[in-house]
Amino acid sequence: MMKKKLDRKIIKGVAASPGIAIGRVYLWDSEDYNIHTYPVKESSLATEIVRFEEALIKTRAEIIDIQKKLSKEMGVEHAEIFNAHLLVLEDRMLIEEVINKIKKERVNVERIFVEVLKKYCDIFSKMDDEYLRERLIDIQDVGKRVVRNLLGKQKTELFDLGEQVVVVATNLSPSDTALMQKDEVIGFATDMGGRTSHTAILARSLEIPAVVGLKTLTPGALKGNSIIIDGNNGIVIINPKTSDIKKYKIEKKNFENFERGLSRLKSLPSITKDKHTVQVGANIEFPEEMTSVLSHGAEGIGLYRTEYMFLNRPDFPSEEDHFKAYKKVAQCMQKKPVVIRTMDLGGDKFASHLNFPLEMNPLMGMRAIRFCLARPSIFKTQLAGILRASVYGNLKIMYPMISGVEELQQANLILQEVKTDLKKKGIPFDEKIEVGIMIEVPSAALIADILAKEVDFFSIGTNDLIQYALAVDRTNEKITYLYEPAHPAVLRILKSIIDTGHQAGIWVGMCGEMASEPPFILLLLGLGLDEFSASAVSVPEIKKVIRSVTYEQAKKIADKVLQFSTASQIESYTRTKLGEIIYNK
Ligand code: PEP
Ligand code: MG
Repeated sequence: MMKKKLDRKIIKGVAASPGIAIGRVYLWDSEDYNIHTYPVKESSLATEIVRFEEALIKTRAEIIDIQKKLSKEMGVEHAEIFNAHLLVLEDRMLIEEVINKIKKERVNVERIFVEVLKKYCDIFSKMDDEYLRERLIDIQDVGKRVVRNLLGKQKTELFDLGEQVVVVATNLSPSDTALMQKDEVIGFATDMGGRTSHTAILARSLEIPAVVGLKTLTPGALKGNSIIIDGNNGIVIINPKTSDIKKYKIEKKNFENFERGLSRLKSLPSITKDKHTVQVGANIEFPEEMTSVLSHGAEGIGLYRTEYMFLNRPDFPSEEDHFKAYKKVAQCMQKKPVVIRTMDLGGDKFASHLNFPLEMNPLMGMRAIRFCLARPSIFKTQLAGILRASVYGNLKIMYPMISGVEELQQANLILQEVKTDLKKKGIPFDEKIEVGIMIEVPSAALIADILAKEVDFFSIGTNDLIQYALAVDRTNEKITYLYEPAHPAVLRILKSIIDTGHQAGIWVGMCGEMASEPPFILLLLGLGLDEFSASAVSVPEIKKVIRSVTYEQAKKIADKVLQFSTASQIESYTRTKLGEIIYNK
């Protein structure tokens, strides 16, 4: 029999992490299960109903358990949010409808439960009352738990897969991605997400080729399909032709050679042709990245995203956990600077065990420093860990998401309390430890002169700053075309932050992804940026751009583009200049 040829499909998305992967599709969904329908004999109907009741009891126990943990760690008011989930489980109408339908239709309970639940969801989604409409999410959430318990499934995780795969998913959360092992997951592709979503950033840190924002990938990809991920150009090919595979095998080799070529720069300083020196550091999420940081020649750690320590675990990290992680990084970097950002939980990074209450706009919600100030004991534990580790290297503390000076003063007061406490206990720490803030909220940029008086440095977080300045959600694939680092408004803000920092006598760095994009590196250098920090893999390329240009050339480029009125003009001008200066085009 002739083998049916599978349809070849090419989809364009957002290039999230460089590299080429050629492999087989592993379709992954953390929550949806394939529900089969099968008949149930009359004699087994009672057993089917008992299965349903047991799943309800188990789900209830799980929720009560979460509530207990939550009230201990975050206060009763957070735990009470789950009361709505319990109410769904106790809804007599829903329960009786499921039982009656099992008896009447004589099919398995999962199938009936999902149908009844869908009917309820449809009713709630059409309600005028916003409060009731929001209950839809509770119903869906509880529904998923019940189905999971009916099927006796655990939430599947992306590790110990036992084979090399290319993960294909509608979406991947940063905590799902954090569990990936590079020797198993050789690439991934998602329908959702943007270049600066944390899932994309993590892919670069883990050096896993990835394409996101593909919108229509999952409906067409089947488990086991052959697939190519082109993370350099943001292209995915499902069921590629033999000639595609041949072409991409060559591209993969070329890319690896290009990377090897760049790595020759790793031990060279970040200095322009006319001897202007800047710092090029790496951003990390885990201490395990230190090998990559050192092998790529980073001159420091410009951003340690410590919130990852809070993900994928059933409790909060202890002071000892913090201390050990920071000590390891400090020692690896010897005397080089290590900027430890206090945790930036919330937004798109949730600690699963905390079941953060749902917010309409999590990116503008109870996240980062706001969460830390609301939960000072969690914050103090982390600060104590950082201070204790500070004697092992050159650590600096950085607060995320500062939007006003009072927040900064409050954070500094808490830091002072922790210092006093350590002193009382006779525990040594670096008394002169530098404290800085991320400038990632437009209000902070506008009052940079006021904030500068209270800190030792600024680090510009363009990933967030751009989304707040332009009102463009960084994780939303539908509006990636509006997420423009070169928007004239963004450039004006950047210039103002850098100038204000310098006037106040403090250094200004950037740890947002913009710092790793070659045309923008020229521009940022010209604006006077002192430090660039991005994923370790980007370090050699940043150095290459800096070493190929004079500071005077870069300043001229910055002056010129500040007069342009659109992002596309600015981007095209800087790209042309980059080509002329670096590649002699
Ligand atoms: C930023 O916002 O630019 C940043 C570096 O922080 P994060 O990406 O973790 O939000
Ligand atoms: Mg940020």
